[in-house]
This record gives sequence, C-alpha cells and structure tokens, in this order.
Amino acid sequence: MRSLVILGATGSIGCNTLDVVAMHPQLYQVLGLTGATQVEKLFSQIQQFNPRYAVMTDAQAAHQLRQLVKEAGLPTEVWSGAQALCDLAAHPDADIVMAAIVGAAGLLPTLAAVEQGKTVLLANKEALVMSGELFINKVQQHGATLLPIDSEHNAIFQCLPAQLQQNTATQKLADFGISKLLLTGSGGPFLRKALSEFAHITPAQAVAHPNWVMGQKISVDSATMMNKGLEFIEARWLFNCAADDIQVVIHPQSIIHSMVQYTDGSVLAQLGQPDMRTPIAHALAYPQRIQTNVKPLNFFELADFSFSKPEPERYPNLYLAIAACGYGQGATTALNAANEIAVAAFLAGQISFTDIARLNQAALGRFATVKAPDLESILDLDQQARAYVHDQLKKVS
Ligand code: NAD
Ligand code: MG
Repeated sequence: MRSLVILGATGSIGCNTLDVVAMHPQLYQVLGLTGATQVEKLFSQIQQFNPRYAVMTDAQAAHQLRQLVKEAGLPTEVWSGAQALCDLAAHPDADIVMAAIVGAAGLLPTLAAVEQGKTVLLANKEALVMSGELFINKVQQHGATLLPIDSEHNAIFQCLPAQLQQNTATQKLADFGISKLLLTGSGGPFLRKALSEFAHITPAQAVAHPNWVMGQKISVDSATMMNKGLEFIEARWLFNCAADDIQVVIHPQSIIHSMVQYTDGSVLAQLGQPDMRTPIAHALAYPQRIQTNVKPLNFFELADFSFSKPEPERYPNLYLAIAACGYGQGATTALNAANEIAVAAFLAGQISFTDIARLNQAALGRFATVKAPDLESILDLDQQARAYVHDQLKKVS
C-alpha cells in the first residue's frame, strides 16, 4: 500500500488520478488532497477518499471546507495557504506526490516533495520550465524519483531502454543509440483555420480541444502550441538532451503520444487513446502495470495517421519557446511567466488570441539574457516578467 498526495486534486489531472486510484484501493491510500478554491469539489473527494489532510490555498474556501468536513463528522484536517501545500508535499508519510497544480504556483510544493526524496509524478510542466537545471539537480541531490505524466514525456519514457529509465536526467541518449526524440502534438483546434481569422478567435473556441479534455490554461496553450514549446523545454531537462535532439511533429489524431528514433533506423512509439489515465496509471504503478477504465485501442476503427511540420506563422509561440530553450534559464522562466499572464488576460477577454504571442515575444526580448542561477533569482525574475506583461496590458487597454 503506497501513500499518495495529490497537489491540484480538483483539476483535470487530479480528477483523472483519483479515477485510477479508485480502481485500486488495495494499492493506494490517499494521504492528502489540495485545491485552490473549489470547495464543493474537494469536499466530495474527501467524502469518497477519506484523506488525513486537505489543503485549500484560499483561506475563506478553507474555512468553508472545514465547516463541511466538521458537519459530516469526517476526520480530515483542513489546512490553508501556500506553505501548507509545501508541508503536505513534504509529509513524512507521503510516498508518492502527484504534482498537478497548474502554472508557477506548483513550483515550491513540487520542490518540497523533491527535497524529501519522494516519488514525484510530474504533470506541472511549468515548474520544470521555470527552474530547469535547479529542479533536476535537486532530484539528483535528494534521490527523488521523477516520473513524467505529460503524455508525450511519458510516451518517450516508455520507449527508452530500461537502464536509461533508471536515470534519464544524467545519462546520455547517444550512449543508448538514440538519435532523436519526436515530440508529437495535435496542432490544436486551429490547425486548419485561416490565419486571417486568428485575431478573432474567442476563448470558448480556444479551449475546445479536438482530442483532449483539459484545464483552461493548458487548453489555450495547446491552441497556440505554447504547450508544445513548454514540453520541448520539459523534454530537454527530463531527458538530458540538446534542442537539436528534439523534433516537434504534428499528428492531429493524438494516438501516437511521442516517439524515440534510434541510430539503427528503428523508431519506437507509444500509442493509446488520448486519455490521461494511461500515463497516470503508468507512473503510479511503474514498473508494474495496472488497469484503468481507458478503452483499448481498436486499430480497425482508427482514422489514418498523418504528420506535418508546425508552421511558424501559425504557431509563433512554439518557436518562441524553442528560442527561449536556446537562450537558457532566464529566458524560459520569463517566457513561462509572461505566458501565464497573457493567457489569463486572453481568457478574461482583455486581449486577442494573437496578442498572446505578441506579449510573450516582448517579454522574451526584454528578459532573454537575464541569468537566473538560483531559486531566489528564478522567483524574482518570474515576478518581474509578470509585472512587465501587466504593464504592457495597461498600455493595450
Ligand atoms: P486544471 O486547471 O484543471 O487544475 C489545476 C489544479 O491546480 C486545480 O486543482 C487548482 O485548484 C489548482 N491550482 C490552480 N492555481 C493554484 C494556486 N495558485 N495554488 C494552488 N493550487 C492551484 O489544470 P490541469 O489541466 O489539471 O493541469 C494541471 C497541470 O498538468 C498543468 O501544469 C498542465 O500543464 C499539466 N498537464 C495537464 C494535462 C491535462 O490533460 N489536463 C496533460 C498534461 C499536462
Ligand atoms: Mg502533453
């Protein structure tokens, strides 16, 4: 029986994780669940999984949740605030921590789990994009186990030799005969939309992903392909490789979740339904396999597979992220922060879809060469880039 903490339990990844856990009560015990503001949702998860701890970061929401838990006579302790997330992630009784908070807010709690040498299941790609080398060094230093949840990185991981899986962050891909990582992406909802219509794209259109059901921020990132850009940076750190070792391939059917190309001409791919319960179950049980409610692939029902190169005019954000990866840590930290503010402004109806790339490009231009070698400077740069984009937003409105 392994004990599990889910950071971001009320989100899309959090709910999918609980769906897998519910099928295996003999294998996983839920120690703690966290959410930001969704009281009812966290309360119903508490009723079902009876965790020892729950965290609501918002103090008022925590107060409401405490009342509900008390009235229901449940033993769950409710904590609140950002520090409580770190305390729960570092709890001595936690074996596995699912890092599924969205955005930079997930960095410190995820690092708190890493510093206690936990098995960390990483969905929160922004944490790694923000802090890259520092994050990976901490994983090494504290003997944590890092398993990727992002479907592409989980697919790549599954296509690696077992010996390389033992430590992907420090061994060399070339030593295992690997020549390229092929990162697939669907191209999002606007793969075929006329570029002249991009300025009029609405938030509702942008979050309606053709294949995946996800949180709002990652859905917009998928539409701009910033998501693939963040994943490019994520892959660079998870698999200890250079930008030249990674190629982005558009595959609109989202059945191949990524591939690994070997020097002998072989390409290994991981396939499956576009359903996050598969990578979640893989990482939860690794190196075993467990059942999920995911429908098996039926090859006689599948559409033809197609592949193409992402067009730079259609997906400027992807290319900004690849450029940032080349600049280094300051650039990726700043770009991630800028993108969070730009996407939030787009979702709030303050700016157009095409403004997202414009703001990201401006922030990258401003901060690309800033060095951010330690946690303090990373957090400081994150704040500076956010403030910079907020200033630009004031100029727009
Ligand atoms: P979501 O918006 O559905 O859920 C986010 C979770 O984080 C919620 O529980 C929310 O309460 C919590 N949260 C948000 N802001 C917070 C804050 N400031 N402090 C504390 N908690 C906060 O997002 P999601 O789609 O589940 O994505 C979560 C992470 O997983 C993201 O980093 C995303 O890129 C990554 N991811 C998601 C998917 C997917 O299919 N949804 C796939 C791959 C990777
Ligand atoms: Mg992904």
